[in-house]
Amino acid sequence: MSTEFGLKDLIKDGIEKLQKASDLDATVDAWLLAEEVLGITRVQYFINPQRLVNKEDADKFFKFIDMRCNKIPLQHITGKQEFMGLSFNVNEDVLIPRQDTELLVEMVLNYLKQKIQGKKVKVLDMCTGSGCIAISIKKLAENVDVTAVDLSQNALKVAIDNAKQLDAKVTFIESDLFENVEKQYDVIVSNPPYIKTEEIESLMDEVRIHEPMMALDGDCDGLKFYKKIAKEGRQYLRSNGIIFFEIGYDQGQTVPAILEGNGYKDIKVYKDLSGNDRVVTAGKE
Ligand code: GLN
Repeated sequence: MSTEFGLKDLIKDGIEKLQKASDLDATVDAWLLAEEVLGITRVQYFINPQRLVNKEDADKFFKFIDMRCNKIPLQHITGKQEFMGLSFNVNEDVLIPRQDTELLVEMVLNYLKQKIQGKKVKVLDMCTGSGCIAISIKKLAENVDVTAVDLSQNALKVAIDNAKQLDAKVTFIESDLFENVEKQYDVIVSNPPYIKTEEIESLMDEVRIHEPMMALDGDCDGLKFYKKIAKEGRQYLRSNGIIFFEIGYDQGQTVPAILEGNGYKDIKVYKDLSGNDRVVTAGKE
């Protein structure tokens, strides 16, 4: 009895299983999982679609397909997500880095480019999760000291691992917001949890069931972390320091109001590529 499978049939079966199980993009997902398990590209496939796949790889592929049928995020199956051109390890203890958040990082990088003139700039990433923001800034900006904070020990494990793997020298602090933070910073950047508690129920299964609740839940108004970071952050910002927040699409009025209430100046809201409010910046006098 043959223990090998033809590549073409393998992928076809994978797509069919996914189509039956869910409304996800079956073709894209089956291909991504095949590429992950077999280490082949689509071009290699078209050169020889009949090539044989050994049983071990086929079993692994179908195991991944079953996981995906159960709405486990692709990134939890492959264990990684690309962000700012870098590959980050992820698991269920951290929020999967989102493309929207690249805008936040790009804005910080642009600011740093103008600001850095020989002198070291200190950046604090509050609620770092996988470390994607802090590590990208450290890798892509020159002359920055980056510190990253999270309350979750498990998230910090992932972030520290990512920093090691990407060879980024970032200081990590386990802390409930600023509790264990001592220094002052030129830049505070944060993509905190900002979903309203009552809206969590309506999120996609993939997010609601598989991503960490503590990375999503911004309390009943979704604003808990903005209020705390705006208020407590003032004393950790140097004079002329600047805060960069990622916000939800419907927080373009409320978050600036919080910052204004806490005495910040030059408050600006920026839109993402889809035209939604996404980033707020504010300065300290
Ligand atoms: N800062 C991390 C990110 O942008 C985690 C955000 C969060 O947990 N809310 O992915």
